[in-house]
Amino acid sequence: MRHRISASTFYQYLSCPLQLWFACYGDQKKKGIVSPIREQLFRAGRAHEVVVMRDLGISPVLVDCEDEQQAFQKTLALMKAGKTIYQGTLIDGDWIGRPDILIPKRGRSRLGGHHYTVQDIKLTTDLTDEHRYQLTFYTLLLERIQGIRPRYASILNGARKTIRFDNTEFLERFERTLTEIEKILAGEKPPPFLSGSCKDSPWFQACIQEAVTTNDLSLVYKIWRNEYDRLREAGVKTVTDLAHADFFRLEERVRHISSSRLARLQQQAIGLAEKTHFVIEQPELPVAAVEVFYDIETDVLSAPPLQYLHGVLVVRHGKKESRAVYKLFLVRNPKQEGKVWKRFCAFLNTLPKDAVIYHYGRYEQQVVADLAKRYGAPRAALERFSRMIDLSRIAQRCVLFPTQFYSLKDLAKYLGFHWRHKEASGLNSIAWYQEWRKNKVLAVRKRMLTDILEYNEDDVRATRVLKDFLAGVKM
Ligand code: SF4
Repeated sequence: MRHRISASTFYQYLSCPLQLWFACYGDQKKKGIVSPIREQLFRAGRAHEVVVMRDLGISPVLVDCEDEQQAFQKTLALMKAGKTIYQGTLIDGDWIGRPDILIPKRGRSRLGGHHYTVQDIKLTTDLTDEHRYQLTFYTLLLERIQGIRPRYASILNGARKTIRFDNTEFLERFERTLTEIEKILAGEKPPPFLSGSCKDSPWFQACIQEAVTTNDLSLVYKIWRNEYDRLREAGVKTVTDLAHADFFRLEERVRHISSSRLARLQQQAIGLAEKTHFVIEQPELPVAAVEVFYDIETDVLSAPPLQYLHGVLVVRHGKKESRAVYKLFLVRNPKQEGKVWKRFCAFLNTLPKDAVIYHYGRYEQQVVADLAKRYGAPRAALERFSRMIDLSRIAQRCVLFPTQFYSLKDLAKYLGFHWRHKEASGLNSIAWYQEWRKNKVLAVRKRMLTDILEYNEDDVRATRVLKDFLAGVKM
């Protein structure tokens, strides 16, 4: 069977070549469930397109036929009539495309005295590689249909600005990628290459199992694709190969990887093989009588995203013992986001000046900056936020953990911490929050709220476990 090529084929290939292979040949029984929130995110993108077109006064003709051949015939008829078209379908052989907007331009083509160019609506600010492939694909598909290649395609970005793209210099790269894609569609299976984005993939369990079974080098945290290829070319194919290799011989055999980088990769591999961590730099953390562990939950489906929960674990260290109290600031109604934020800032103000706030990842810093801009914040709170400590940076810099990823979940689990909810995740928390707000049944609402709060509380408790570990390790 010949497989279709569409713009999303390029998207799949760019995010992971193996994911494309799985889509064509994978055992669908091994495919994990795609979170309903992901589906909603996709729909949110579609809703954004409609809003942007309405705001800009673009009123194209919508092609909404279910059957793709009918959709193509309708698109073709509209193209001949010179209309601006939304979600038209273009088909030629095994190529199929659904660009957001088809815009008529002057200049002869098979259609008559005009031809078409493509515009896609995106939430991002700049043109990405993914957009370049997508636009080039549509442009070449249009050329096959109308007999003339449009000079450029464009995106309408999140700021409602048009960014034009001339693909002349990109074509060679496009063709090379297309050749690789065609090999995969013909059945050639690429090896798994684990990266941070794998966790969102429905094939994660299948891939991690395969990587663990084969002891694949991609299990080494943050190994880059070119490093992976160079090591394999030098005969280092497994974590054990790398862990046991003689370093000086390895340095001679492996080209274009610096000695320091090679040493780090090898030490990471030794840690994985021996299931142990290595401290490579002494973490320096302040000593404070009061420590605050902070985590924010965001509903990314709201526009703008809604920060629906600020959760903190406040730890007060006494002479004999420490006391930890979890406090939450929940947005029960989106209109209260600013009010809850101000209550949270006021609460922070009640803590001693030298209390230290810890969080995991850059996200919290970005969100507090955004909320302070939107709703304001007392100077004292701003000063505290500017001193917040991101433990992910310290963990990455100072310790080599024997984990494939460095998410809070991976590290805290390695340190023995367990989340109460089996399906605890940021995406599920959004689903619980939405259910809690919508559902009328009291028992369901109660359960959802418990899940949301326990998940957030476990996150801040896990952050504390990591901080205590980092504060206690020695080189
Ligand atoms: S889990 Fe990772 S390597 Fe496997 S298919 Fe998905 S993205 Fe690719």
